[in-house]
Amino acid sequence: MNNKDLQQLVEEISDSFFGKPFSHSALFNNRLRTTGGRYLLKSHNIEINPKYYDEFGMETLVGIIKHELCHYHLHLEGKGYKHRDADFKKLMKNVGAPRFCQPLPFKQQKQTLQLYRCEKCGKLYKRKRKVDTKKYVCGICRGKLIYIGRDTLQ
Ligand SMILES: [Zn+2]
Ligand SMILES: [Zn+2]
Repeated sequence: MNNKDLQQLVEEISDSFFGKPFSHSALFNNRLRTTGGRYLLKSHNIEINPKYYDEFGMETLVGIIKHELCHYHLHLEGKGYKHRDADFKKLMKNVGAPRFCQPLPFKQQKQTLQLYRCEKCGKLYKRKRKVDTKKYVCGICRGKLIYIGRDTLQ
C-alpha cells in the first residue's frame, strides 16, 4: 500500500460512506506515533500512520480513514468537527467510525497489576488478578501474603 493506493481508498470511502468527494490529499506519515491518523485543518489533508495498517490491517485502516473523514467533511462544511461536538458524534455513528484517532494504542496499553508482599520475608509479588491470600502463600518462605494495592504499567 503506497500513497497512491491510500489516496484512492480515501476517495472511495468518502464516496461510499459519506456520499461526498474527498478532493484533497491523503498521505502516509511515518512520524505519527500514537495516533492512527490526523486531519490537518490548514491544508485539509489527511495523514495516516502506516504502522497501524502494517500491524492491524485493512479493517483498522478503514476505521481510521472514516474517523479522519468525519473531521474533514464537518470542518469543510463549517460544522462541529471536534471530538466533543454533537455533529461529530452523530456523523461518526452514521458511518460506523471508531471514536478516537487512536483506536488501538498498542504500545500504551495499560495493564493493572495487583501487588502483594510477603509478611515474613518482604518479597513483592505482582499478579494480573487478585489472588486468594488464604490459599496462596509466599513461594520462598511460605509466609502470608498481604495485599498492598494496585500498580499500573504503561
Ligand atoms: Zn479525531
Ligand atoms: Zn516470604
